[in-house]
Amino acid sequence: MNNGFREILVVSGKGGTGKTTLTSSFALLPPEKVVVDADVDAPDLHIILRPQVVEAHKFVGGKVARINTDKCDSCGVCRELCRYDAISSDFQVSPLACEGCALCYFACPHDAVILRDREAGVWFLSNSRGGPMTHARLYPGGENSGKLVTVIRNRAKELAQETGYGLVLIDGPPGIGCPVISSMTGVAQVLVVTEPTPAGQHDLGRVVELATHFQARVQVCINQYDINPERTQEIEDWCRGKGVDVVGKIPFSREIPRIQVQGKAPVEGDGELAAFIREIWEKMLEVE
Ligand code: SF4
Ligand code: SF4
Repeated sequence: MNNGFREILVVSGKGGTGKTTLTSSFALLPPEKVVVDADVDAPDLHIILRPQVVEAHKFVGGKVARINTDKCDSCGVCRELCRYDAISSDFQVSPLACEGCALCYFACPHDAVILRDREAGVWFLSNSRGGPMTHARLYPGGENSGKLVTVIRNRAKELAQETGYGLVLIDGPPGIGCPVISSMTGVAQVLVVTEPTPAGQHDLGRVVELATHFQARVQVCINQYDINPERTQEIEDWCRGKGVDVVGKIPFSREIPRIQVQGKAPVEGDGELAAFIREIWEKMLEVE
């Protein structure tokens, strides 16, 4: 619990383990919460939660150079120095190649280089089927996805405080890179969704290690556990050895794609799958 609300992050070592399937379901269960789609490179929570945008903001991620041709005397110094080959023979800067390092800006003898903010994405505050939601889209080639995650997390936290909602639910990015670290920093509780495959088992180890580093309380959900019961058992034994709770196991289900094509979350179905997901959510909320 942090400033009157709790942050729960749902992650997986890689994409395709059912992380968003679960998060979209949790988002539709009580209690009152603010939802964050922190997978800013490939957001997909909106497909199920259907947010209606209330606020839209530009995201500035780094700088990009531009050459003022009125001041430039074509001396070529900038072109020689640019390690990214971003400056053409007629002294135009390619925004895609420019890394915004500012070397040309400082080296130009005629102050002909201008450094501008680079619009790298857009972020939103919306009303969704799961309540207030912050989400974003990083443009192709856009940088600083970790910073963008921090921006939308901070807005969600502000909102949790303003509304008095007790929970911020974060759908994290896959992997263990910079955006995941930005999603995990300061979060007290992390649910790792995995599957009983060699890759799933390997990635689980890496994510649990990262979450432990951040001193988060880690829980695990094994999706499609029945496709390989032996490996599921190995994962459970490994978790026990690490002091990590396995809060649920979800069987393989053809119901999931059938429900999702209707734009619904699995928890909105009437089968046993919905019951499994509710049970996992309740166990997660039992944590102090
Ligand atoms: S260093 Fe400055 S003056 Fe020289 S080519 Fe580059 S922009 Fe033009
Ligand atoms: S800012 Fe850096 S990367 Fe961009 S054009 Fe100048 S030297 Fe090249």
